[in-house]
Amino acid sequence: MAENSVKPIKQRDGTYAIVLDKALVTPQELKEIAEALEEFDVKLVKFTESQRMVIVGIDPEKIDEFCEKAKVKVAPATGKVVRSVKFCPGKALCTMGLQDSIAMAERLMKFEGLEFPDKVKIAISGCPNSCTEPAVRDIGLMGTRDGFTLYVGGSAGRKPRIGRVLTEKLSMDEAEELVGKILEFYKNNADRGKRIGEFIDSIGWDRFKESVLG
Ligand code: SF4
Repeated sequence: MAENSVKPIKQRDGTYAIVLDKALVTPQELKEIAEALEEFDVKLVKFTESQRMVIVGIDPEKIDEFCEKAKVKVAPATGKVVRSVKFCPGKALCTMGLQDSIAMAERLMKFEGLEFPDKVKIAISGCPNSCTEPAVRDIGLMGTRDGFTLYVGGSAGRKPRIGRVLTEKLSMDEAEELVGKILEFYKNNADRGKRIGEFIDSIGWDRFKESVLG
């Protein structure tokens, strides 16, 4: 378990599940994963809300071996960490796309697995249709004709809430830098167990905005 330090998730039937890091695969990569699934007797694959493959029913002792064979890594799917960045095809593939959400996501994947006061979900959409629901993620980037609009403090799940627009018309460089600033400010100032939206409520929108945009 050295390379894949992310823990497998125990299932009701006593087996374990892992989430794979890949959100885009070529036919060859998919074939390699499928061959490993057969070899390791995995019975089921489903997909997370961040569009990553969940391998259900794997022997926890064989996870490293499976990953090596399938040429994949285990993604951070539990705990107080930045979860897998959710993204849509964006303008690289989708006819509605206005911004390159795949390239934007690749830049933000460097934060995946890093620890924070609570879990952090990030989603990116290539246009206002918002297929990846960026307005209900801790940090969401929505593509427009003029760049990315950044939402912050949204959440789905137990306490659903719509994020607020922090700023608009961001280039990819600006969006990457601002996401880094938000995460750093959150890490250094929030109490453990507070999601970004709750943290913003506790300090006030104006102070938060000044701190990360100033
Ligand atoms: S959000 Fe826009 S660019 Fe992304 S998949 Fe949906 S329609 Fe296409």
